[in-house]
Amino acid sequence: MTVVVVGSIAFDAVTTPFGERGRMLGGSAVHFSLSASFFSDVRVVGPVGDDFGEDEYAVLHDRGVITDDIERIESGKTFFWRGHYDYDLNTARTDETQLNVFGEFEPKLSEDSKRADTLFLANIQPDLQLEVRNQCKAARLAGLDSMNLWIDTARDSLVRAIGAVDLVLMNDAELRMLTDEPNLARAAAAVRALGPRIVVAKQGEYGAALFSEEGFFALPGYPLEDVLDPTGAGDSFAGGFLGYLDAHREDGLSEPVLQRAMTYGSVMASFNVEEFGTERVRRLTIDEINERFAEFKHMTHFEAIPIEVRAAR
Ligand code: AMP
Repeated sequence: MTVVVVGSIAFDAVTTPFGERGRMLGGSAVHFSLSASFFSDVRVVGPVGDDFGEDEYAVLHDRGVITDDIERIESGKTFFWRGHYDYDLNTARTDETQLNVFGEFEPKLSEDSKRADTLFLANIQPDLQLEVRNQCKAARLAGLDSMNLWIDTARDSLVRAIGAVDLVLMNDAELRMLTDEPNLARAAAAVRALGPRIVVAKQGEYGAALFSEEGFFALPGYPLEDVLDPTGAGDSFAGGFLGYLDAHREDGLSEPVLQRAMTYGSVMASFNVEEFGTERVRRLTIDEINERFAEFKHMTHFEAIPIEVRAAR
């Protein structure tokens, strides 16, 4: 029972209408790892610089995340992202990206990571995603996320990487952009035609929608009154979703399993956005996760009671 994730391990500087942080632990692989660690064993793959210190490792170790495959480059600098959000918290605006140690990253997975059952290729350059997919042959379930930057600059590579995974989780706008298809159902079908069995469209505060052979399932976002920082929501969603699927893989990818995975993904994303960066998920408890899971069921469950024919007046 192990999930391997490759993606950015970062320092983020984030400003939202509700506050700011000048330098905090972030990165797609970090947000994914912390979230998935509530469900399964997690190994994180990626490079960091010598500015990545004990405090940063401790955040991962406190949640039991295995960091053996983090490559620490002496005299290198960790990936840095600066971004902000306006009142529309669904759209991240990138102000600065310093690839730093990611510029020369050549993934080399340990034997333990190569044997993992589940793989998540978080948002990084798609050729690197494909390289990791090819090293992780044993994975029976592989998922991928991406972003507008790679659709614009490396579309062919991204299409190749998508062809090598079972599951794509992307923002709805990016699915439309990738496929040139304004209708989301058609965009999801076009992505499934590239290879993946499952497409999950993340829709920010509006929730998430799943398209698969079995059909369609969607959940609203959890109705939070205070959202401080949406950074990492998508990766927290992916961590809950794939962490749950990894832990229950003997049940297969049946509709009820996928529906619960969607709910755990939504639960984890909703906690992530309550505070800045990893602050909230770090001190999250299983009881809080279960309580919010039950609230999702209550919010979305209803009985089908047909109406009677009314007599004509
Ligand atoms: P999201 O879940 O989409 O909000 O992902 C947020 C994380 O993605 C942040 O913590 C950033 O460090 C990271 N990030 C931003 N831009 C990039 C990029 N071009 N490549 C990899 N990771 C990025």
